[in-house]
Amino acid sequence: MPIQTLHWRNNNNLKSIFAGKTFNAMPKITKFFELKAAIMGQDLLENDAAVSICIDCARHDSLKRTIQADCIPGTCGVCCRDDVTVRNPDNVEPMVMLCRALIRFYWEEFEYNSHFGGDNLLCLFNDEQNPVLNPVFPHTYWDELDHLLGDPPYPDWDKGISIYAGFLDGHRMMNRAIAGSQPPEISDLRKRLDSSNFAALLAELDALFDPFVDELDVIIPKDEIWFRARKGVSAEFHRYDGSFGGEIVRQPHIGNDIGPSPIPGNGRLNREGFPVLYLGTTAYTALAEIRPHPGHYVSVGGFRILEDLKVADFGADISRFAQNEVRLEMYGIVHAFDRMMSTPVTPDDTVRYLITQLLAEVLKARGYDGVQFRSSVSDGKNLCIFEPSKARFENGHSAVNYVKSLVYEAPEVPSISVPIAGDYKLDR
Ligand SMILES: [Zn+2]
Repeated sequence: MPIQTLHWRNNNNLKSIFAGKTFNAMPKITKFFELKAAIMGQDLLENDAAVSICIDCARHDSLKRTIQADCIPGTCGVCCRDDVTVRNPDNVEPMVMLCRALIRFYWEEFEYNSHFGGDNLLCLFNDEQNPVLNPVFPHTYWDELDHLLGDPPYPDWDKGISIYAGFLDGHRMMNRAIAGSQPPEISDLRKRLDSSNFAALLAELDALFDPFVDELDVIIPKDEIWFRARKGVSAEFHRYDGSFGGEIVRQPHIGNDIGPSPIPGNGRLNREGFPVLYLGTTAYTALAEIRPHPGHYVSVGGFRILEDLKVADFGADISRFAQNEVRLEMYGIVHAFDRMMSTPVTPDDTVRYLITQLLAEVLKARGYDGVQFRSSVSDGKNLCIFEPSKARFENGHSAVNYVKSLVYEAPEVPSISVPIAGDYKLDR
């Protein structure tokens, strides 16, 4: 049989050549493919069965959209069905790089790098709760899929994304999950917020955003209605209808009473005494964002946007930054700010400036009207308008809501009373 027609899946001879051999420098399967390529020539790799991933197996919305953007009938390596709608195997790289970006986003490297005790990459998807891909089953195309997502393991930093951190000065490095870690540039700036010259920090943060901030631009159109909430009501009445009983009716806060405080405290995006207008996409988002307790009555009101607003959207889709390491680093910065903005200011925030306030200054100086970021307590989005007069309270959207209950999802996680040898303190 000519080499070019061999398929890796059926090629037990090749598998047996390397049976029992151990390679220490990188994940076994990867090393194997390198050796295989070296011995058999690149043609063999290029003739692996052309499996891809189908829309049904993609769980992440970004991944679904990326498959949809260039799809044909083909074979899915995840569910192993033929003639399903898959990403075009001849243009598979954007999907592969997005899968790698999502792995880097959600998982710590020790979970999938065997050198740190992790499982095979594809085993990550066995977790029914994973947000990226359906579990790979059956295993008909396991090797092809592993190859598709894992090779080459270390593309050039400006040409692709590596799921492994690789080596530095002979030491193996480990990637942290982007979803929960702080890029070093941000940690550094935060440490210096209390001691450094404000103008110098502004210039540094501006330079950090300069290469990509334009890509976050969105326009909030004039006349759109957004929502704001305030705990409590303006007044309560007993409505007597002439019979026994009647009912209690509540009058919501309206107008300036539900608008921004003219003398606000420290907020994520405003310094004490400088008002901004925080709004949510829906009444529920606005309500959830003020974090009321069960038993609270909450007034909700609508605000009309008075002119087209240019805002920076920090909830940007990861697929827009999933081409290579350089872009993924940018996304790490965007997401770190998105996370910080959606966390309320607490008494623990004792520094003179918050880095998110510094960001607001950078964006204002660049001509932005505000910032959009995800809500951590609802599916909606938040908007902070730097100049509150660019939106106005509007009658007809007001309501009073009663907070009946809250559900906390709080599974127990591994914990310790004192660290032991092998516990490395994380800087975050
Ligand atoms: Zn599938």
